Amino acid sequence: MPAVIPPVPDNDDEFFWDGVSHGQLLLRCCAGCGRLQHPPSPMCPSCHSLKWSTREATGRGTVYSWIVSHHPTESDALPRIVVLVDLEEGVRLVSNLLGVAPSDVRNGMAVELCFAEYDGVALPQFRAAGSAGG
Ligand code: ZN
Repeated sequence: MPAVIPPVPDNDDEFFWDGVSHGQLLLRCCAGCGRLQHPPSPMCPSCHSLKWSTREATGRGTVYSWIVSHHPTESDALPRIVVLVDLEEGVRLVSNLLGVAPSDVRNGMAVELCFAEYDGVALPQFRAAGSAGG
């Protein structure tokens, strides 16, 4: 597995990485209109509020789209499935799909959040729904 570049949290996404370190997937929720915003941005695109709270995502979603990524130089590295997940809260997230063969990935397949650690870096990942423990 190639090295993972650790996240460098800033004012906009520090809450997200704090949540990940506690096993939570937190979404930014506008304090003005309640809109969920991901990726986080400083201003709500709907009501222009600068005030935010957070909401924990259930972690349930479906695959919107996906690609298989091959490392350009480490030929023995396993390919990664990079997915766009539509969370049931209505926002879309880029992540990886674990435990599924590339030939088995389908748009619309149900997935669920899990966390994986690479080089000491915890990342929110997804697996096929109902596959926990398998
Ligand atoms: Zn708003």
